[in-house]
Amino acid sequence: MAYIDINTTNVPDERGYFGEFGGRFVPETLVPALNELVTAYEDAMKDDAFQQELAYLQRTYTGRPTPVTYAKRLSEKLGGAQIYLKREDLAHTGAHKINNALGQALLAKRMGKQRVIAETGAGQHGVASATAAALLGLDCHVYMGSVDIARQQPNVFRMKLLGAEVIPVESGSKTLKDAINEAIRDWVTNVRDTFYLLGSALGPHPYPRMVRDFQSVIGVEARQQIQEMTGRLPDVCVACVGGGSNAIGLFHAFRDDQSVDLIGVEAGGHGIASGQHAARFADLNISRPGVLHGTKSYVMQDENGQIMHTHSISAGLDYASVGPEHAYLRANERAFYTFATDEETLAAFQTLSQTEGIIPALESAHAVAEVIKRAPQMRRDQIILVNLSGRGDKDLDTVIQALGNI
Ligand SMILES: *Cc1c(COP(=O)(O)O)cnc(C)c1O
Repeated sequence: MAYIDINTTNVPDERGYFGEFGGRFVPETLVPALNELVTAYEDAMKDDAFQQELAYLQRTYTGRPTPVTYAKRLSEKLGGAQIYLKREDLAHTGAHKINNALGQALLAKRMGKQRVIAETGAGQHGVASATAAALLGLDCHVYMGSVDIARQQPNVFRMKLLGAEVIPVESGSKTLKDAINEAIRDWVTNVRDTFYLLGSALGPHPYPRMVRDFQSVIGVEARQQIQEMTGRLPDVCVACVGGGSNAIGLFHAFRDDQSVDLIGVEAGGHGIASGQHAARFADLNISRPGVLHGTKSYVMQDENGQIMHTHSISAGLDYASVGPEHAYLRANERAFYTFATDEETLAAFQTLSQTEGIIPALESAHAVAEVIKRAPQMRRDQIILVNLSGRGDKDLDTVIQALGNI
């Protein structure tokens, strides 16, 4: 069987639509490049040698399959459902992002594109891209807002150490949104020899689909692992949702298992009423369908369509839009979306550390916060599978600032 099976679903359609969401909203100059990418991607996926090379690197370099861990003490403490953790925190570079970065970098190489560009907010996707580029001998240039550069110094240094150039972006709010704008601008200018390595299940067709496919290994592995461990499927799958790539990577393998509830957790920040959050599906006063960065999905915007400023304690969830496939799954009621506040997330961060000896990424701690709310309402013979998208070392400064000296 192919490492990645691309014939598993009828979405998106050939124009990149997931129902009414997705598509391709880009300058005319990018259309040929996106078409070239569609063709190259489909060719690569049909090529056994490509699939085997990706599988080989995921096994021997990333460290896949990542394990599933039974969270015995957390389950006992909560007194309800049994909790299992899919351990993407144990993947090389400490998060799921490498699954996608490696897949796209391998594709860039196959397409003969030596120059790779990427955008990054917290620096996690920048580090994953710089890592994959170093491994495959590609030149990597990462756009990053100057505000983010100032607050994410360790990741900036990592990227440089890995041989990447970090390009400061001074426009707009000098954060992720502006870095994506600059990366798109670069791509328009240098489209012939440049590959845009996009970090989440976002952007113009075929990115949302391609990123989903590269991340779908999470759910494919976990579905098999949980059956081997428990003899059955989970009742609930939970994952945090920034752009949506780790969540769609987990959900995809379970999409036809109607007995399995799929729950995405957005950043509730200081609470929905405060307006300071990134809960695109929870606050329909300031979030509605619109276009951002080449795709149609829910976007937090004011009445004039100006993109709203978002807030989350975790940089990886701090984005005004969300992958179009999530908007589609929500519209069809196949998946449900909720949020965790910064405060609930910090509590979950400590609870998981102290019950299981696992320090999660703040992004992943949002998913754990939902498990803490939900497990006690469930029976002891029920199962929750939660995606631990990354490890928390990168977040220690943030947590120390938020909690003081614990
Ligand atoms: C980037 C990141 C996320 C959010 O991105 P998605 O595309 O929504 O998965 C979540 N967890 C970790 C650890 C991250 O680095």
